[in-house]
Formats: sequence, structure tokens, C-alpha cells
Amino acid sequence: MRLNLCKIFIVKLVHFLRQNWLRFAVSITFLICIWPNRYAPHYPYIASDEILDELIERTTPNVTQQFAGKLSCDYNNVISENQFMYREPYISTLLDGSDIRLGGEWMPSTCAPKYSTAVIVVYRQREKQLDAFLTYIHNFLRKQLIHYRIFVIEQYDQKPFNRAMLFNIGFVYASQFDFPCLILHDVDLMPMNLGNLYVCTRKPRHMCSSLDKFRFNLLYHGLFGGVVSMETKVYQFINGMSNKFSGWGGEDDDFYERLQAKKIDICRFGPDHSQYTMLKHNQEAPSENRIAFLSNGSLRYNTDGLNSLEYKEKEVKLHKLFTHVLAIT
Ligand code: UDP
Ligand code: MN
Repeated sequence: MRLNLCKIFIVKLVHFLRQNWLRFAVSITFLICIWPNRYAPHYPYIASDEILDELIERTTPNVTQQFAGKLSCDYNNVISENQFMYREPYISTLLDGSDIRLGGEWMPSTCAPKYSTAVIVVYRQREKQLDAFLTYIHNFLRKQLIHYRIFVIEQYDQKPFNRAMLFNIGFVYASQFDFPCLILHDVDLMPMNLGNLYVCTRKPRHMCSSLDKFRFNLLYHGLFGGVVSMETKVYQFINGMSNKFSGWGGEDDDFYERLQAKKIDICRFGPDHSQYTMLKHNQEAPSENRIAFLSNGSLRYNTDGLNSLEYKEKEVKLHKLFTHVLAIT
């Protein structure tokens, strides 16, 4: 009896699927698309209570001198409280900007900062995003009690946008100020958690591993774009990024491969400390030659990068909230 019922059920199910196969296929596809775990959701990360030990304590020489003998800032609370920052008024209003120095530099006044970071932002023709970024990032970073300076590297010419080359140019200017730590930053990414300290870790760090565009999941382990941090000396050691990737795509994967080739591992903070939101924009068309450059990238690590960088400096200007480098690639 039970066997018969089972048989009838299966026959009916098969019949139903035959009649409705299109609807069924659409529903399954839809379910897969909205399934929250469809991207690699888990990844190894530095636990919140271990973050402090992983940070590299170093400041620029002028800051080291200026704060000699003064009490160091305490970063325990910033990390453990991990305040959610992406809300009013931080996102829309610059909160008392009088203490930001010309050129977009800031340091705390009440305690000695332990860290100095150059935030390098690559940019062209995204005025609204740049305005939003500058306002928010100064509100965000000042709460972290670190010493930092914002460099905006703008591509002046109309050739395809060369993100990687602009970061190499950023390195040149950050080095002039002896910054020991670089953060390479897209203009459209906003960090949401204050515990995501804008400071270099012992290993280079992929900082935006929990991005809303990917429903807060990590796409693949080797993803190393968007926002990354790295000691200046490590960036130099791997010869920076390739100058060849003009147009969208590939340069971040090539950058990751450069680290791998030198046996340098990367790290991440946990999802709670790595949330970002990406401001909306149209997707750029991928460049056609990115796959070819990526596949033979390893042949060029020693000859294509910082040591082959060629550009013209159109202008360097100190604005209230940033140091502006206008470059011809
Ligand atoms: N970018 C820019 N202007 C452009 C193209 C790119 O300023 O016309 C910069 C900007 O910082 C941006 C980053 O390059 O965030 C990466 O480009 P995009 O946001 O298009 O890449 P995706 O969001 O696909 O990673
Ligand atoms: Mn983007």
C-alpha cells in the first residue's frame, strides 16, 4: 500500500515537473541567486582580540620626534567596541574639520599615535564619490586616533584608467613623507566598522572582505582589490604593481600573484571588522588584454612596476582635506 502511494507520488511529481519545467528552473535559479551563502562565506582571519598584536607600530620621523616622551594612544577600545560608523552625521557632514592640516593630514593632540598611514586614493571623474569619501573618511579616521594623510592621485589624461599605475605614483609621494604604511583605496568604498584600524598588519591585508556589493561575502580567497594595506617596504620589495593594466580588471589579481611569487601571505580581519559599502556606479567595461597580461605577468614582476614607472606630474596641490597629485600616465 505504502509502496503504491510512493509510486503515485513520484509519477505525479514527474508529471508536474514536465508540465512546469520552465517555472521550476526559474525558481531554482532565483533561489540560488538569493541564497546568502552562495559566495565563500568563511575565510581565515585574525580574531578581534589578536588584532593589536598584529599591528606594526611605526610612525613617520616627524611624528616620532614631536611626541617623544608623551603617553601613547590606547587602541584597545577602538578595536573591541568596533563601533558601527556608517550613519548620520558621519556620512554627510564633516565634523569640526579645524584640526585637519592642509594636505589632509591629521594626528591626535592628546596622546602619541603609534601608527602613521598614507591613504592613497586613485581617482578620475567621480566628483560626488570623492566628496562623500573625503568627508566620511576624515570623520572615520580621526576616531581611530592614528596619524594619517590622504593622497588623491588623479589621472589627468583621457587614456583608459590605469588604477595600478596610479598606486605606483601614490607610493612615490607617500615615500617623500616617509610613511611606513600604505593603504591603497578605491574612492567608492566606505569602511563601516571603526575597529577596522587603518594600520598595517604584519602581513599585507585585504581590508574589504565583507563588501555589501557581494552581500558581505568574500568572492574568492585570492581577492586582493578594493582596499588593501601593506608596509611601504613590502610594496617596494615586490616592485609595486604592474603599469600594464590600463582599463578595468586584472591588476589586483596580478598584485596578489606578485606577493605569492615572493612567498608573502596576506591576512584579513573578521567579517565584523571588515564591512564596507560601495557607492553606486556603472560597471566599467573590462579591458580586453587583461587576461593576457595576467597570464604572463610572472615574466614581468622584476621589470614592470616601480622600477619602470613613467609619468608626468601635472600638478601637486595641497587641499584642505587631501594632497592632490594630478598625473599624466
Ligand atoms: N576609478 C575612477 N574613475 C574611473 C574608473 C575608476 O576614479 O573612471 C577609480 C575609483 O577609485 C574606483 C576604482 O578606480 O573606485 C575602481 O574602479 P571601479 O569602481 O569601476 O571598479 P569595481 O567597482 O568594478 O571594482
Ligand atoms: Mn567600484
